[in-house]
Amino acid sequence: MVHHSRRSFLKTGAGVAGLCLVEPCAFADGLPYSIHEPQPDRLMPFPLASVRLAPGIFKEQEEINARYLDSLAVDRLLYSFRATAGVSSIATPYRGWEAPTCELRGHFNGGHFLSAVALASAGSGNSDLRARGDEIVDGLAQCQKKIGTGYLSAFPTDLFEHLVQGKRVWAPFYTYHKIMAGLLDMYVLTGNNDALQIAEGMARWAGEFFWPIGAEQRQRMLREEYGGMNEVLVNLAAVTKKDRYLETAHLFEQPGFLDPLAARRDELQGLHANTHVPKIIGAARMYEVTGDRRYREIAEYFLEEVLTARTYVIGNTSVEEFWKTPPGQLQDTLQWKNAECCVAYNLMKLERLVFGWTADARWMDAHERALFNCRLGTQNAQGLKQYFVPLAAGYWRAYNTPEDSFLCCTGTGAEEFAKFSDTIYFHRGSDVYVNQFLASTLEWKEEGLTIEQQTHFPREQGTTLKVKSTGPAARTIRIRIPSWTAAAEVKVNDRTLGAVADPGSYLAIHRVWQDGDKISVSLPMHLWTEPLAGDDSIRAALYGPMALAANLGAGPTDETARALYDPFPKVIPPADPLPRVAAKTDAGPPQWIHVESPSELRFTADSESANFSLAPLCQIGDQRYSVYWQFQNQKDRTT
Ligand SMILES: [Zn+2]
Repeated sequence: MVHHSRRSFLKTGAGVAGLCLVEPCAFADGLPYSIHEPQPDRLMPFPLASVRLAPGIFKEQEEINARYLDSLAVDRLLYSFRATAGVSSIATPYRGWEAPTCELRGHFNGGHFLSAVALASAGSGNSDLRARGDEIVDGLAQCQKKIGTGYLSAFPTDLFEHLVQGKRVWAPFYTYHKIMAGLLDMYVLTGNNDALQIAEGMARWAGEFFWPIGAEQRQRMLREEYGGMNEVLVNLAAVTKKDRYLETAHLFEQPGFLDPLAARRDELQGLHANTHVPKIIGAARMYEVTGDRRYREIAEYFLEEVLTARTYVIGNTSVEEFWKTPPGQLQDTLQWKNAECCVAYNLMKLERLVFGWTADARWMDAHERALFNCRLGTQNAQGLKQYFVPLAAGYWRAYNTPEDSFLCCTGTGAEEFAKFSDTIYFHRGSDVYVNQFLASTLEWKEEGLTIEQQTHFPREQGTTLKVKSTGPAARTIRIRIPSWTAAAEVKVNDRTLGAVADPGSYLAIHRVWQDGDKISVSLPMHLWTEPLAGDDSIRAALYGPMALAANLGAGPTDETARALYDPFPKVIPPADPLPRVAAKTDAGPPQWIHVESPSELRFTADSESANFSLAPLCQIGDQRYSVYWQFQNQKDRTT
């Protein structure tokens, strides 16, 4: 989220709404693919309700997140919506970016919170959180009705007028998008019909507001962050089969941003990362519902470019929230404010969409990299979330506060930790793709098929899939063989397959599957290094998909260093120098790191000054750490 001083955004007046009636929910398990033309070749994720996490590291994190969501009170969440609509409330409002004086208010309370509880309801059957979501929807319906124009927000329409007038204002469409997306998730994932009606009222208001504004002025207004307004309008069009929402979605497109990407030109330097990834997600969804391949080409080029030229070893991008350098030039960018967590959330959404078109394992490799390195590990035991993932040496993790922050990454994190099951399995026709190695059960009722994935991955280097079937059925089960493994081995019912797919592709096993069949997958991990783009002498070490971090000792314990009221702590000391390795970068398998325990994921490393213990970054808790290492540079080597 682009930051503004909260003091400069003071509360303004009240806004306006009306409900429009639509047909009832036509489905309850996922967004339809296309309004206009079916595209049966696409891989589809399974509905969240079909996949349950089994006990393990992800389930544990899902439950911590659910407890945090459960700690929030409906009346307090609704306070600013009610104040804006003129509905009385005696609740104590939350603070931070949800304070009644903050122009972003409502983004979490009526947006991310609704999405998160809808995801938790569908993904883990959490009926308490679903009821909480229903209460919020009831409260929002009352506010929208009172306003009477379709408009709904926790701030008045004045802020949109400021946008029209070119006055300084903090991203009103960004917040509007979060609320619409939360409502749409409540409809799609839990079947709350009122939520769809409210979202349609909001879409109608947005169209009525934006259509009369001239194209030039609209483009000026779109310079202010607007989240995924295009995406949510496309999704609404797909759900309702109403083209007018697609037409409104087009209003949120910026040729100045999209045209260079369509021409495969990286002009991203200077842009705010998390403002722009959602625009590409919207383009990707526009391709899916219209079939216009230009949008697909934009999305594929963007994703490839960001992942290859602008991404750190943890699978995320951005420095001080921006792309600040030419492509492939990340040297001198390691600091506290690397890798805003929202950006990972959005990149993973995009990876998932592009994978659906291409079935290319590289996108699921990238998804895994982000999942294990900058999603897992960014929530603490109280369910609080990080904002940045510092990548300079000597820094530590810091988290939002329970009731005084409500940052953008608090919101996207609350969603992420409620949907770890959404990408594990995909299908095309009756074939199943096993993308990620998370302990879980897929229950595909229509096909009479259950797949139980038993694994302690990454502490276990592989996984076991147990097939339960109502009868023999011919199908292909495809399993990702990650790019980081070598010598993968796969057994079906304890018989080793003669050939396994290359790393970085899918192994297809076609047979008549019987109830009780078992697939055992061995994915040996090894140590390897990856350079920082732009400086081959700065490298990170990985074990399998996990970036390893050197433990540099206990981090600070005082609140000023740990608690995020704004995106970063009040005081950030200078970074330490990167630990130096007395080895050449091209030395092959790293000789300077040692695997102490594969099952406990413990490692040691020799640097010039000291020996360090290492662990996967996701296991670093309160310690100070370093992910990158300084090798001898070219000059050192030749002298
Ligand atoms: Zn964020």
